[in-house]
Amino acid sequence: MPWCETCDERLGTDELTDEGRCPFCGAEPLEHRSSPWYFKFMVVATVIYLGYRAFQGMTWVIHHI
Ligand SMILES: [Zn+2]
Repeated sequence: MPWCETCDERLGTDELTDEGRCPFCGAEPLEHRSSPWYFKFMVVATVIYLGYRAFQGMTWVIHHI
């Protein structure tokens, strides 16, 4: 998702001008500005959560065999 640093605005690909610039200020938007760290954080958090739940499930199974 393109990101305009000047407007501090997330831009839809269809919102960009024909030159691929910000329609509001004309600056060249940055690609994938602030989403990667957030996306990585979400992935890491999900993996940790699922790992924790799997660990819980294994513990439950071990105690109930
Ligand atoms: Zn802009």
